[in-house]
Amino acid sequence: MTLSSTHKTIEVEGNSLHIPEGINYSCSGCGRCCYGVAVPMTEEDYDRVSAIDFSKDLPQFDWSKQYRKLSAKESANTNYTHAIKSTSDGHCPFLVNKLCHIHGKYGEEVKPLICGLFPYSFNRTPSGIYLTVSFRSNAVLGNVGTPLTEQLDTLKEKLRVYNTVYDEGGIIWDKVKLATDKPISWDEYLALETKLLEAFVQGATIKDKIYAGSEALFKDLPSPKASAAVTPNKMDKAFLAGLFALYFPNNPKLKNKDVHFNGIKFAAELMLKPPAFKVANKSYLFETLTEFPWSQDPAIDDLFTRFIYSRIFGKWYFGGGFAQLSVIAGYHHLALLLALARLHATACAIERGASTVSMLDVMQTVRQLDEKIGVAVLDGYSAALWELILFSPNRIHRILDPCFN
Ligand code: SF4
Repeated sequence: MTLSSTHKTIEVEGNSLHIPEGINYSCSGCGRCCYGVAVPMTEEDYDRVSAIDFSKDLPQFDWSKQYRKLSAKESANTNYTHAIKSTSDGHCPFLVNKLCHIHGKYGEEVKPLICGLFPYSFNRTPSGIYLTVSFRSNAVLGNVGTPLTEQLDTLKEKLRVYNTVYDEGGIIWDKVKLATDKPISWDEYLALETKLLEAFVQGATIKDKIYAGSEALFKDLPSPKASAAVTPNKMDKAFLAGLFALYFPNNPKLKNKDVHFNGIKFAAELMLKPPAFKVANKSYLFETLTEFPWSQDPAIDDLFTRFIYSRIFGKWYFGGGFAQLSVIAGYHHLALLLALARLHATACAIERGASTVSMLDVMQTVRQLDEKIGVAVLDGYSAALWELILFSPNRIHRILDPCFN
């Protein structure tokens, strides 16, 4: 089954659950999901897990310091109260030889609730709950396993867990805007999304899909039309470099941290610093990375397509789903994520001495992007700046054309 602009809807205990077609997932047991995050726990999770003495089985950790209380901001709209601190190399301390020690010794039901939920991701909206999956999972990156539309019993159980952990009405959807000065109703948004997805899935390449989606959003607006390809200007590259530093921080200490875009610092640096893209302490120019051979492996386009499609279908790119951005700014931000992925995956390939970018470089990159977008926070000034910069389809063309030429 391939991606389409239609989807399956089922009723579960008074909720409409919308399930995308063409997205597959089954656990491959790789243990990769247990990296890169401080695992959140409800009060019950914390009481159950912290009551066990792990000091004999896992003596390398100081168990009196391995859990922490979440701040009010971290636990907002959820029933999470604590988190398991990850190890210095970023994995959950309970992960041993790619297996969960709690699961193996004490049973699945003893693990924190979120571990059973992952990588399923639900988003509650005025028209029901939309299901997607996290691209931090290897199986999701490879689209391996059973189609989500054939996992109805599993999904009902996952939704029950989701409802236990996340507050109803936690995400605010009453300020949806197509652009900063164009508020739209939820029904208008849904009609627009149908057109966006129809245009997106029909494009021949990922670049065509992005451009077709952008045109669909501008259809009823007096908009600047996308010009023929030209090279990105200083502002384009500077903004891209700012996003790159945000999502691919060079400082290892920031790797497992939330993402805060500082608009004032960005504006101050814009004129002073040449835009550079840093990976493993090496700085690259935009041109160096975009002129490096890009892989023609169709699996890469397929991965990018599922990644962007999932963000759109799951409504994780605008309004309450992402930084209260307008739909157009949110969609163009997704477009720039592809450019960032192209640049980062290429730097990874250069770093390992390869002659071309591989699917593994791209998978590693998309996994990190997915993780970082989930913890991105924009202050009011930054959000206004992003709206301004991301409104332009010309900018998207100027940046994406050299990335995927
Ligand atoms: S508790 Fe177990 S399943 Fe959950 S993140 Fe840690 S190792 Fe993975």
